[in-house]
Amino acid sequence: MKRKISILGSTGSIGRQALEVIEKLNDKFEIIALAGGNNTELLNQQIAKFKPKYAFSNKPNEIIGAKYLSLDEICADTTNDIILVAVSGKIGLQPTITAINSGIDIALANKETLVMAGDIVMPLAKEKGVNIIPVDSEHCAIHQCIKDITQVEKLIITASGGPFLNKSIEEMKNATVEEALAHPRWDMGRKITIDSSTLMNKGLEVIEAHHLFNIGYENIEVVVHPQSIVHSAIEYVDGSIVAQIGLPSMHIPIQYAITYPERFEGIKSKSFSFSEIAHLDFEKPDWNKFKALSIAYECGKQGGSLPICMNAANEEAVFAFLEGKIKLFDIINTVEKMLEKHNKVQAPTLSEIFEIDNEIRIKTRELF
Ligand code: MG
Repeated sequence: MKRKISILGSTGSIGRQALEVIEKLNDKFEIIALAGGNNTELLNQQIAKFKPKYAFSNKPNEIIGAKYLSLDEICADTTNDIILVAVSGKIGLQPTITAINSGIDIALANKETLVMAGDIVMPLAKEKGVNIIPVDSEHCAIHQCIKDITQVEKLIITASGGPFLNKSIEEMKNATVEEALAHPRWDMGRKITIDSSTLMNKGLEVIEAHHLFNIGYENIEVVVHPQSIVHSAIEYVDGSIVAQIGLPSMHIPIQYAITYPERFEGIKSKSFSFSEIAHLDFEKPDWNKFKALSIAYECGKQGGSLPICMNAANEEAVFAFLEGKIKLFDIINTVEKMLEKHNKVQAPTLSEIFEIDNEIRIKTRELF
């Protein structure tokens, strides 16, 4: 039996790589729906090749060869066995909740879903018996290492350190958009690449890990590991550490998430060779240079609407930086400024989450 899958964000970086995996495993998958954003040309090429029944685009009239459905309608179609949520930003949240309510497993590549609404999404998934399988390489690594969560003492999340790891604070302050986009290890979308340069991405991942694995922030450690070979690790109560290792490739976590619990050869990228790589480096993060990390820990610990505020302010500031309106350090200064002014809501409902997110975005944009 083929596994029936829909991909939200099929024209993005994760979506395109997922289709490469599925092409390789074409006897294992049937695509029900593909959802793109604005790149309808690529979406239509994907439709012609993979022949889904349904498709979504921001420009519905331009879709050729598939019937238009909204993201929510795609996620309500119980023909799906699994949905890969690879859209970026808050538009991933509502469809994910719809899919969970429909009892469909989720391969989750969208960070905002858990950062904004982890306290709602994870209990709902548990109630509905839905698996949330992380696609983010660090969380996928942890997912692969964990046998029994009750025996885990701590999570060790690795960070490449991004393009400014060995640069001074001064150099980072004056960084151009191009310098910030030049990630040494991973080829990703623009927003996440900027987040990786400030380590906000790692901060978002800490919050994501807290929700996914239901573990306290004091038991999540971030370690800088420039080679990105150890994708993350867990320490068991007896002090034994289990890590997941491999050359950096997103094909592996994507394939793991959509084929879980099975494993196939699929796109077998080059294996890591212990004898060919001379050494691996690990160091503590520079909390001074990468303030985003401590802000994220603090927002996560305090919970409520703080992570929503942090995420929304950060995303708007990243866009402003990409448009050349502000400097790199202003991103985090903006986040701090918005957090200072924010009146925390303790346990926001879904509609309150969207309201807060919207309000913070408008107020943040007024600053530029
Ligand atoms: Mg990651």
